[in-house]
This record gives sequence, C-alpha cells and structure tokens, in this order.
Amino acid sequence: MTTLDRPSTTSTNRALPANASEWLHDPVFNKGTAFTDAERDALGLRGLLPPHVQTMDEQVQRVMANFHSKSSDLERYIQIVGLQDRNETLFYRVVMDHLEEMMPIIYTPTVGKACEQYGHIFRRSRGLFISLKDRGHIGTVLRNWPTRDVKVIVVTDGERILGLGDLGASGMGIPVGKLSLYTACAGIHPTQCLPITIDVGTNNETFLYDPLYIGLREKRLRGEAYDSFIEEFIQAVQNVFPRVLVQFEDFGNSNAFRLLERYRDKICTFNDDIQGTGSVALAGILSALHLTAGKQMRDQRVLILGAGEAGMGIADNIVSILQEEGCSIAEARKHIWFVDSKGLIVKGREALTEHKVHYAHDHAPCLDLLTAVKFIKPTMLVGVSGQAKSFTEEIVKAVAGFNARPVIFALSNPTSKAECTAEQAYSWTEGRAIFASGSPFAPVTLNGKTYVPGQGNNAYIFPGVGLGVVATGARRVTDAMFIKAARTLASLLRKEELAEGRIYPSLKRIHEVSLAIAVAVAEEVYASKLTDQPRPANLIQFILAQMFKPEYPDYAT
Ligand code: NAD
Repeated sequence: MTTLDRPSTTSTNRALPANASEWLHDPVFNKGTAFTDAERDALGLRGLLPPHVQTMDEQVQRVMANFHSKSSDLERYIQIVGLQDRNETLFYRVVMDHLEEMMPIIYTPTVGKACEQYGHIFRRSRGLFISLKDRGHIGTVLRNWPTRDVKVIVVTDGERILGLGDLGASGMGIPVGKLSLYTACAGIHPTQCLPITIDVGTNNETFLYDPLYIGLREKRLRGEAYDSFIEEFIQAVQNVFPRVLVQFEDFGNSNAFRLLERYRDKICTFNDDIQGTGSVALAGILSALHLTAGKQMRDQRVLILGAGEAGMGIADNIVSILQEEGCSIAEARKHIWFVDSKGLIVKGREALTEHKVHYAHDHAPCLDLLTAVKFIKPTMLVGVSGQAKSFTEEIVKAVAGFNARPVIFALSNPTSKAECTAEQAYSWTEGRAIFASGSPFAPVTLNGKTYVPGQGNNAYIFPGVGLGVVATGARRVTDAMFIKAARTLASLLRKEELAEGRIYPSLKRIHEVSLAIAVAVAEEVYASKLTDQPRPANLIQFILAQMFKPEYPDYAT
C-alpha cells in the first residue's frame, strides 16, 4: 500500500470494556484469537480463548477460506456480517483487503437478497430502528446509541430498496451496508457511523403476513403525519448529534425529493439516490466523452429511461456541466429526454411533476422506448427504471446504428433488474458500446478482445464526499460538491484503464479515489465558507490523519 492508501487512525470514541466478557463480545474491541498473551493476562482472558495466539493475517486467511467454502452469496453475506458483529476490526481488514470481492456481498446485488430475507436470516440487531411506537420519544431512542460521537447517519424508511420496492424495516441492510462502505472506502471510523431505519409501516403484502417479518404490521404512514414524524426525527438528531451528516437513502420518490428540498438548506444532508447517483453517472459520462465522436457535453443527446430520483439527479448534473460549457438552463435541458412508465415526457402530458416538467419537450406523445430512440437518435442511453431487460437487442442496435461508440448505461439494481447485461451490450454493438451498470458484471471477451464493464457504483462518490464534509466540519452539503466529486473521479481514470473499456478507475484504487474526492470537497467547503474551521496547511495529511486503519491496538499497555 502507498502512503495515500494507508489511513491512520485506530482509536475509538468508546469507553473500554469493564470485564472479560465485554472484551470478547463487544465487536469494537474484540480481537478474538489475536489477543496477545500479555493482553490475556491483563484483561482476565486466560482460558477463555484457545491457547495459540493468531496473527491478524492468519485470521484473515481463516475468514477467506470460510468465505470461499460457502455455496451461495447470501451465505457469504451472513458469514461476513456475522464477522462484523463479532470483530469489526477484522471485518474491515478483510473488506478493505478484498474490496472487489466483498463489495457485491456487503452491497448490491447481494444486500438486496439479504433485505428480502432479513427477518429470516436475522441474527443480531445492528443500527437503530425508530418506529411509529417511538413517536414523541425519538430523542430517547437516539440516546440509547452507545456513543454521542456520531459523524455520519445513513437513514432509510425502506420504501424503495434498490430496485426491489417496499421492503419496510427489512431495508436495514442498506444503511448498514452503505456505512460499511464509508469505512471501507474512505476510512470514516466505524464507531462514528450510525445506520437508522425508520419504520412507518410497509405496503409489502408478503411482509405484512409473514410471521418472521421484523417490522410493524401496518400500512405505510402518509401525508402530514409522515412529514411530522420525519420532522421529529430530524429535530431529535440535531439535538443528540449536532452537526452530524445525514444521508437519506432508498426513500420512495414521492418523499425523497420533498425531504431533500425541505432539509438541504437547514441541516448537513444529502440524498444519495439523487445526488450521489447524479455524480457517479456524470463521472462516467465525462470519461466516456474521451471516446465518443463529439467530445463535449453539448454534442450529446441523452435519453434516460426512468424519471425518478436517479434519473433526475443525473439530468440535473448534466445540465450543470452544460451550463459550465456556456448553455442557458433552457438550452441545456433540451439535450436530455426522458421516457418513464407512461412513455416519452412531452409538453402537455397530464400530471407531470415539477421535475418532469423541466424536461418535457415539444413533441407528440410516444409510448415506447424503441420509437423514442428512433426519433431522438441519442448518443447516450441511460437506464434507471428498475425494469429488467428493457434495453432490448433492437433498441441497443438502433442506438449503435447512430453512433460509432454508443454510450449504454444499464444502471438499475440489483443485477436482476439491469436494463441489459454487459455481454448483451458488447455483443449487440460488436464491442463498440461504452457500457456501465449499477451492479457489477464480469469482463466480457468478444472475438479475442476483453472488455471491462464500468460499475457506476455510488461508492465511488459518497464515501469521499462524506469524508470531506466530516473532516472539515461542513455545515451543508451542496450540489457543487457532487460536481467536483464527479470531475475528480473522471480525472483519476488512467489511459490504460480507458483502453480496457473502463470508464471508472479500478476499485483497487478506491482509497486514493475517496481521498482525492474528500480533498476536492474540502476545498469547496473552505471556498464557500461552509465551515468555521480554518483550512489546514497540509489538507491531504489533515484528512489522512482522520482515517480509520483496521489494525488492532495493544490493550495490554
Ligand atoms: P424511482 O422509483 O425514483 O424511479 C423509477 C423511475 O422508473 C420512475 O420514473 C418510473 O416512472 C420509471 N419506470 C417505472 N417503470 C417503468 C417502465 N416500465 N418504463 C420506463 N420507466 C419506468 O427509483 P430511482 O431511485 O430513480 O432508482 C431507479 C433504479 O436505478 C433502481 O433500480 C436503482 O437501483 C437504480 N439506481 C442505480 C444507481 C447506480 O447505479 N449507481 C444509483 C441509484 C439508483
């Protein structure tokens, strides 16, 4: 590892355990078989552990052997989350050292399966559940968390988990997984991360009748009552954890946009599905521009399937870039077209939301994607509809017919919802597609050439943005930070990576990526005067010094 890869903090914000049982059962402190002889004497652990003291490397070897012996990804998820519940330091060492292998397990696609089965595979509670039973007492529930030193909260109400829909309280796998990535990718200390699931009921009929479902058995709260429950939550969070960064995650889009508008100028918050997705997709688009015939954003026509949180986040970021290129906002919006569940978004279509109205074109109604593609002749086709297989062979070939290098992003998650696979995109375009997906696809070999599909994973963006915000004590999260993050990510792509077909740097470089994004975000924080703290002379060292390192402290001394 280089200095840049090596985060440096191991200390925790928690009081040390009071007895041997706590040392062994608190995942923050437990070292398992790696407690040294001196520690076993000092902490009263003699005899409570097998006599051979293992090194961390030996422990990692054991974990990985077990991991590889499992017969399904869900079993791997259960194993690895079990490790997180027993020994967090070892968990992060394993995840950080094997990130490419672990990311699809602790996050999409496997986390989706885990959420669908959450009540059935439930072992040990992790994070905070705040339910309608806690109305009027949310502050008390927050104070039950073992530390006040929380820097990042990821909160969901479980209504739109990945592309899987309403999973209610079982959505907890998502904040847990996202926060694991904050630590694994950007070194935010695990004890400063708090996953929260707000249980306001579920409309998932299967769960409502499942005796093993873990949440409230009632229909979702809506309207004014929902908003006032969220308001109580936000107020309580501000009281108990002042200045914490709150990331909204996987809320249904009828709430997500409204809550973002309501809170973005009042507290330190962002919505990853809107802003994080907009940023990572923009980075992919900026990288793709090195390969397309028209090298500038203003040469592009972007057709987006799905006009929800992700689609709008992507469109708004493209508009920002076009404005930087000198377009007016009205001109910029003309470069972007949407098809949603009711067809092409055109002027005069009934019941368009405010966001959709911005992107409504003067055009006759058109109900299907293929017809829209033939008319618009997009240079870029982006899927964020949650509708599996909606990029058919005919559609992809049509886009390839207009472009030497068609940009095809099938971003819907998990893998089962992707609009097309990497193999389809490359084979239907004779290898000409510039392809990215939301969940990972393996490299594809076609006529002797291997293509490495891009994964437009938000994990390239939110950990670095969060680190920059937390390290500088920023009061707000702004759209400008996400544009800076996208530009930074795109700028890190190496020529040889681009030559392999990648439009994102290898995940092996994630610590370097997150640090660079954190530095860019920090510069934006200081430039916009969003913090009371002075800019340190050496910003990189300042941020590096705050990053968690998965190493065991010596507890004997
Ligand atoms: P959302 O519910 O806010 O929006 C979904 C949109 O798809 C809506 O506009 C809906 O009208 C549209 N839609 C539904 N059925 C359709 C159909 N048959 N044809 C065309 N459009 C249809 O959800 P979202 O947050 O925008 O997420 C959408 C998908 O994008 C999910 O699968 C999610 O996992 C994925 N996503 C990927 C990334 C990533 O790759 N980095 C990030 C965020 C979201």
